[in-house]
Amino acid sequence: MNAPVAPPAVPPPAVHTTCPYCGVGCGVLATPDGAGGAGIAGDPDHPANFGRLCSKGSALGETLALGTRLLHPMARGNDGALYRLGWDVALDRVAGAFRDAVARHGPGSVALYLSGQLLTEDYYAANKLAKGFLGTANVDTNSRLCMASSVAGHRRAFGADTVPGTYEDLDQADLIVLVGSNAAWCHPVLFRRIEAARAARGTKIVVIDPRRTATGDEADLFLPVRPGTDTLLFSGLLAHLSERGAIDQAYVAAHTTGFATALEAARAQAPDLPSLAASTGLPVADIERFFAVFTATERVVTAFSQGVNQSAQGTDKVNAIINLHLATGRIGRPGMGPFSLTGQPNAMGGREVGGLANQLAAHMGFAPDEVDRVRRFWDAPHMAEREGLKAVALFEAAARGEIKALWVMGTNPAASLPRADGVREALKAVEFLVVSDNVLSNDTLGCAPDLVLPALAWGEKDGTVTNSERRISRQRPFLPAPGEARADWAMVAEVGRRLGHGSAFGWHSAADVFAEHAALSAFENDGARDFDIGALSTHDAGAYDRLPPVQWPARAGTAPSTTRFFAAGNYYTPDRKARFIAPAPPRLAAQPNATFPMVLNTGRIRDQWHTMTRTGLSPRLGAHLPAPFLEMHPDDAARLGLTEGDLARVASVHGEAVLEVRVAPGQQGGTVFAPIHWTGETSSHGRIGAVVDGATDPFSGQPESKATPVRVEAWPAAYRGFLLARRPAGPLGIWWARVAVEGGEGLLFADSEGPDAWSGRAAALLGTQSVAEYADAATGRYRAAAFDTEGRLLGALFLGPAADRTRWQAVLPLFAARSVPASERRVILSGHGLVAGADRGPLVCACFGVAEAAIRGAIAQGCSSVERVGERLKAGTNCGSCVPEIRRMLQPAIPA
Ligand code: SF4
Repeated sequence: MNAPVAPPAVPPPAVHTTCPYCGVGCGVLATPDGAGGAGIAGDPDHPANFGRLCSKGSALGETLALGTRLLHPMARGNDGALYRLGWDVALDRVAGAFRDAVARHGPGSVALYLSGQLLTEDYYAANKLAKGFLGTANVDTNSRLCMASSVAGHRRAFGADTVPGTYEDLDQADLIVLVGSNAAWCHPVLFRRIEAARAARGTKIVVIDPRRTATGDEADLFLPVRPGTDTLLFSGLLAHLSERGAIDQAYVAAHTTGFATALEAARAQAPDLPSLAASTGLPVADIERFFAVFTATERVVTAFSQGVNQSAQGTDKVNAIINLHLATGRIGRPGMGPFSLTGQPNAMGGREVGGLANQLAAHMGFAPDEVDRVRRFWDAPHMAEREGLKAVALFEAAARGEIKALWVMGTNPAASLPRADGVREALKAVEFLVVSDNVLSNDTLGCAPDLVLPALAWGEKDGTVTNSERRISRQRPFLPAPGEARADWAMVAEVGRRLGHGSAFGWHSAADVFAEHAALSAFENDGARDFDIGALSTHDAGAYDRLPPVQWPARAGTAPSTTRFFAAGNYYTPDRKARFIAPAPPRLAAQPNATFPMVLNTGRIRDQWHTMTRTGLSPRLGAHLPAPFLEMHPDDAARLGLTEGDLARVASVHGEAVLEVRVAPGQQGGTVFAPIHWTGETSSHGRIGAVVDGATDPFSGQPESKATPVRVEAWPAAYRGFLLARRPAGPLGIWWARVAVEGGEGLLFADSEGPDAWSGRAAALLGTQSVAEYADAATGRYRAAAFDTEGRLLGALFLGPAADRTRWQAVLPLFAARSVPASERRVILSGHGLVAGADRGPLVCACFGVAEAAIRGAIAQGCSSVERVGERLKAGTNCGSCVPEIRRMLQPAIPA
């Protein structure tokens, strides 16, 4: 008799969820493997990405390990150490501390600092607790650093924080103007969509940015404006549209006010082309080309991001852009409109909830009737009746000792806020600091919180997020909650109950919270408020669980005829007309001077997200740009005596960082660029937030992060080296940067001491006594390596003169291998064979692990286009984020 045939194993179903990184809001299919991991793929049915993911989204499966997770509530003991305690005791302490602070010092003495990484349900709960039950509007968020100027600009022009368009407009536009947006790196899936539109219909791309980024490289016209002068360009364009008779007089008359004043101001700021060219630094011919194509093209989308928002005049910049679309009536119709690209996964959800200090709730402000409406809906005893402290002002108040109890939720202000060293001190000055987060250690947790609460992370959380095009998507759990971690909304609800508000915080699930949020959006909303998702307020747990991606408005009882706003006016101002806003003349908040003669710009890189707590766990993502860097123009580098890879100190009046120099022709002379991602956890001197000036916009309160006067100088270090180790190693040398590598951890470091000081240290650093060493005092070289009995490389420590820096690319593949052949083991210490043969250069394509050397090799063998390189190596054929870099290699001489 034949043995019974086992039924085929049924693969676990894929869970439809949403990427936790940028504001594109890509749908993700996560298939749990039953061992704490998951397979990750793009969701082909999600309308934000139709199956595509960028390098960061594709690597989500590499970021699910629990090694860095906070798993239990902890309280600080008298000795300064953290000790476990139970949830009940922890939550009692939070409630008690906030109750006492309000009783002793008033509601203005307490605050919550939230995050665009929170889910909408978390945001809603925190906002309700503060504004309805603690009586304070001191609820702000790291989204203040991201898009607060877009919010303020929308509200000034439209009367509400409304994004008029949709992603389909990018497919249908004939001209896309990207302003202050490195979309190729920061919104990669959207940028691929833009490129697809270009291939399909010949869409022209204009990029306006002081810095030539990967996005600028892909543009049909790149306009490298002087920092801070983009408003002048838009003013000049408004005047040009008027001169050419391109104003939509009917739309302006019927649906707007203030055009004449705005036009007069625009003409005063940009009276003619020569003066505009002189002030922006752009060639007259390029300005004329831009003006001509904008004037002649009906379907124009102007998409903008942090380069516009992160400015002390960000709100005016947003309004200068909106003015152009109001003047031409190019808004709310297919393929046209101003489009704010949000940086964070749920900045939009936070805005919908009202989780900013200058909003109340559900797109309502602090007008008496709005306060009364929300009071009645919440049945709230202690309503906040005026705006609270925005992020920068909030931490300034904390530094003065005015904030007695602060709850930081899912963010790391000690690293990410401007003047970050001052923020560290401010956090330490708070009497009772509670931090809910999902990591054991970060810069903020280093500021002696009284209590830390373990929060759920992506893959465990249950709720919703809203992307840049107003599309609400579910983040669904596919992993069990680890340790004692809880949802943030559930922690808030427990505190609310402990403060005596059981019925107001009686939710049993995220679905309950969402239903209440949706009901508030529709409460007494007769169409006077844009944000209305009342149709979702009756969803039970099952319907909430099945909720497909849905774009708002979603009013109860009506199917929207369009998902765009304002084609026929009907703005949310009292007279239902949009407002033209005359921007103030542009000026940098802080001018370069003799002491700080250069201008520092900051931003994101392709493969990392925010402070790297998640993306930093992926070796693939760490391979692209493994150390904090400072980009500068070749002429500036030469003047300062710096070459590629040297260390440079960049200092402002607020603080300093030490970064690796990258010589970049696309950087304007007199300006430098540094990424925002490195913290005190991942580097010794990489916290660029400590340097950033952060003067705030008068309307939005958003800090300037793009134009800090700085001084740059060489930071000599006699020796440079690296450590590869299987277990986390402590800081090394006088400068270091930590990065995940395949099989362990890597540390790049610099030191003032040579081989004599390092000889003999390898055993402790590599965790074994069996270490082979090579030291040469004459050449200043020291190398050590350790193998196990199977020939596996346990670790390596290399040190050499800084001027002749030892690179680790050749050793990385050996460290990742299961075993190293004896012949190659010998050359590790000599170094020669490694450098000659195995150095693959930096990783370019993170999806397929293709390094620079392979791409250059393919080009040398005749691959003359991105497509040919892709056919040969697959590089650039998945998410496409590296296509601009491959194109750069094909065209090495990019003009500055
Ligand atoms: Fe995530 Fe990338 Fe999509 Fe942004 S573009 S949501 S980071 S996969």
